[in-house]
Amino acid sequence: MSQPSVLIAGAGPTGLAAALFLDIRGVKARIVDSALQAAPHSRALVVNPRTLDLLADTGVTERMLAEGRRIRGVRFHENGEVLATVEAASMHPRYGLTVLSQERSEALLTEALLARNIHVERGVRAGCVGQDDAEVRVALNGASDGEDGYAAVFAADGAHSDFRKTLEIGFSGSSYPEPWPLYDLPLETTLDLDHAHVMFFPEGMIFLLALNDEIWRVISNMPHPLAKLPAGTVSSEPMWESSFHVAHRVADRCAIDRIALGGDAAHVHSPVGARGMNLGIEDAAAFAMYFAVPGARPMDALERYHRERHAVHKGVVRRVHAVTSMARSSNPLVARLRHAALPWVSHMPALSQRILRTVAGLDHPAPTP
Ligand SMILES: Cc1cc2nc3c(=O)[nH]c(=O)nc-3n(C[C@H](O)[C@H](O)[C@H](O)COP(=O)(O)OP(=O)(O)OC[C@H]3O[C@@H](n4cnc5c(N)ncnc54)[C@H](O)[C@@H]3O)c2cc1C
Repeated sequence: MSQPSVLIAGAGPTGLAAALFLDIRGVKARIVDSALQAAPHSRALVVNPRTLDLLADTGVTERMLAEGRRIRGVRFHENGEVLATVEAASMHPRYGLTVLSQERSEALLTEALLARNIHVERGVRAGCVGQDDAEVRVALNGASDGEDGYAAVFAADGAHSDFRKTLEIGFSGSSYPEPWPLYDLPLETTLDLDHAHVMFFPEGMIFLLALNDEIWRVISNMPHPLAKLPAGTVSSEPMWESSFHVAHRVADRCAIDRIALGGDAAHVHSPVGARGMNLGIEDAAAFAMYFAVPGARPMDALERYHRERHAVHKGVVRRVHAVTSMARSSNPLVARLRHAALPWVSHMPALSQRILRTVAGLDHPAPTP
């Protein structure tokens, strides 16, 4: 058996997708994760058309579509009234917005890897020892302690990336001060299941999305959002309750020599727009395409990865930040602007297409070899 030429640190959606895309292109990779088990709770809930396109040749798309639920668009509400509805039907020739828990998306990627005889090595923390013209040396701590050399590392080790810190790459950006509560819980409601819902209040917003006929995800930037649900909505005991902080940050570089950063290691932003996991899977696809170009030297492939992905990351995070700031703002002037402008969105095809293309991950060209 030939030695793997790429070490993938992290088996979240980004790392799993990288292992799959590399294997399909004939590059042998080893994938390790410091956690003993995959995360039990789902952060991402929406798989977007760009991801379904990228995974179409792997068999995962078919399974995501079979398990997932398609939603038709987004409704915006204020004071108990629908301000606007943006329909997603025409967004993409084949795919729509597919609701599927991140936990299931990761499980389907893992099964596709197992079918190719690729196993995630769990309980193994990877760390960078150093790199030179010949290789990058990686320390592996855990079940299999040791040090190995690889042609390249794809660091998909999450927002607190060890590799980003070891390489002293800045993570520029800003955070919102308020905690964002999150609930997955049964709701009895008249809100329709086929749309995501955004409700505006003078002090912030609530986002609601049905995971299935019974369970809804509720996210807000206000404390106690369950007390502000529409009249007649009855909530039961949450199956998951958490809270998180929202930051908008982009790594100052997403590759140095033989080490590339992908997914949350390279960019974080608010869940508004449902882009994080999807953008990470696109990073994985780009990395595999550039690395597998016949005759390309690893360092040149990674320099290209930095050049092209860094521009994409900055653009996406900027757009998501702008939309999130508009949605969460309690500034009365912004609230008035939102109230006046939103009803026009559905009558302005150019603007609603722009919003949809952002949510669908189609606001920039797909990576190509
Ligand atoms: C509330 C919420 C809702 C969201 N909704 C959406 C959505 O609808 N759509 C969407 O696309 N995104 C969404 N996101 C974002 C999405 O969850 C993340 O962007 C995604 O999980 C990033 O994947 P990743 O693989 O890059 O990182 P992670 O999922 O964080 O995985 C990193 C992995 O690396 C491992 N690791 C860490 N350090 C090391 C090391 N040194 N060596 C080995 N392994 C290591 C960790 O154990 C972990 O398994 C949401 C996020 C939140 C918080």
